[in-house]
Amino acid sequence: MTNATLKQLSQQLAAGAVSSVELATHYLDRIEALNPQLNAFITVDRARTLADAAAADAARAAGNAGLLTGVPMVHKDIFCQQGWKTSCGSKMLDNFISPYSAHVVEQCNAAGLITLGRANMDEFAMGSSNENSYYGAVKNPWDLNAIPGGSSGGSAAAVAARLTPVATATDTGGSIRQPASHCGVTGIKPTYGVVSRYGMVAYASSLDQGGPIAQTAEDCALMLNVMAGFDERDSTSLERAREDYTRELNQPLAGLRVGLPREYFAEGLDADVAKVIEDAVAELKKQGAQVVDISLPNTELSIPAYYVIAPAEASTNLSRYDGVRYGHRAAEYKDLVDMYEKTRAEGFGAEVKRRILVGSYVLSHGYYDAYYLKAQKIRRLIANDFKAAFEQCDVILGPVAPTAAFNIGEKSGDPVQMYLSDIYTLSVNLAGLPGMSVPAGFDRRGRPVGLQIIGNYFGEAKMLNVAHQFQLATDWHTRAPAL
Ligand code: GLN
Repeated sequence: MTNATLKQLSQQLAAGAVSSVELATHYLDRIEALNPQLNAFITVDRARTLADAAAADAARAAGNAGLLTGVPMVHKDIFCQQGWKTSCGSKMLDNFISPYSAHVVEQCNAAGLITLGRANMDEFAMGSSNENSYYGAVKNPWDLNAIPGGSSGGSAAAVAARLTPVATATDTGGSIRQPASHCGVTGIKPTYGVVSRYGMVAYASSLDQGGPIAQTAEDCALMLNVMAGFDERDSTSLERAREDYTRELNQPLAGLRVGLPREYFAEGLDADVAKVIEDAVAELKKQGAQVVDISLPNTELSIPAYYVIAPAEASTNLSRYDGVRYGHRAAEYKDLVDMYEKTRAEGFGAEVKRRILVGSYVLSHGYYDAYYLKAQKIRRLIANDFKAAFEQCDVILGPVAPTAAFNIGEKSGDPVQMYLSDIYTLSVNLAGLPGMSVPAGFDRRGRPVGLQIIGNYFGEAKMLNVAHQFQLATDWHTRAPAL
């Protein structure tokens, strides 16, 4: 049961080989045993999960089961979930029990999935290593000295450690792909607007996008079928016909044009990571893919542009945490302004404060044109680079991060070093494109390395097809850490 995929669990439940209560008990026991080492969860509520599992079993007995009824899952602590603490990894929301559910959570509930718990994450999804959580760092299940990647480190670590078959996650600048890569699991960030942001705590609204992390591309496709879809409560949700993301999984890859951006294989890329990506490309070539040399000339500018735009949006989004309506409020204060100041000083961690300062600065009168407006122009150039590239290829391949997981503490004292690890992921968010990470090998220290697949707008089914065909021929995604 431990290594079963979502697909297999769905089949076992349908065949009556296992009940949802048995499955939930199995995972809850594993969480109890292994989470003290990993710190992948912020909240677990055994009684509630078992009650939901019993209800799923009853629905199945009554003939009301769908494909995923009774399958356990985990939500990143950024998705509001009615009756569950939704902390977003912050002291600011440590006392916040959500009165409503995010669209993503509603969709998962409607599909009959049951919640095992809430995954740890970087505070307000700001980070690349999951060291910024108020609840402490998440450990990488492959090596407890290593970071799991951020900000969805809890989600990725939980799937890698087989504490859940699947987890939700979000990606503003790489937070699905990076932790998936570092933990040896599969994750997809859809095209901006495909998954509703309603009820997803906002970090940088023009970049944030939810998606699944699972063992396989096939499971990601099944989950995306549940999570995607138009929602009028998110003004950037796209009104499109429902898609079946599994529809292209079994297509052969003969004739597929695979673009390799020069800039993704230049200086700064670890040799082991480069080798893993080369081998993955060779495998796809063996299956009939044609390699095209492409260029994304503005890649380097993605870091400064992103680290202006994301903090700018964060500084406005986070102004709502003022101690008045919900969340943390300082215990003692002189007057209203003092209450605001103390509340925010106490409630936010160092990285969040850094972003608020940067964001307020670049949006301020006199600096707006020099920074924010300039960054928006670069954003357009980056999107144009991809537009030109996709005239020559169907998908783009590259690394997810310059190195495999680094050690806990290695970069936490140097924000710029930390930001540089986002070089291959940020452009995708700035352009609004879909991107995914697929397990493709290990580095010299035995730490997982992911292959990044970038698709054109609404190219999710094609990307999942490439990933699935790769997984039919390789077994990287089946490897699990010894815990
Ligand atoms: N590392 C990036 C940041 O800190 C991306 C995080 C994310 O995708 N949520 O902003």
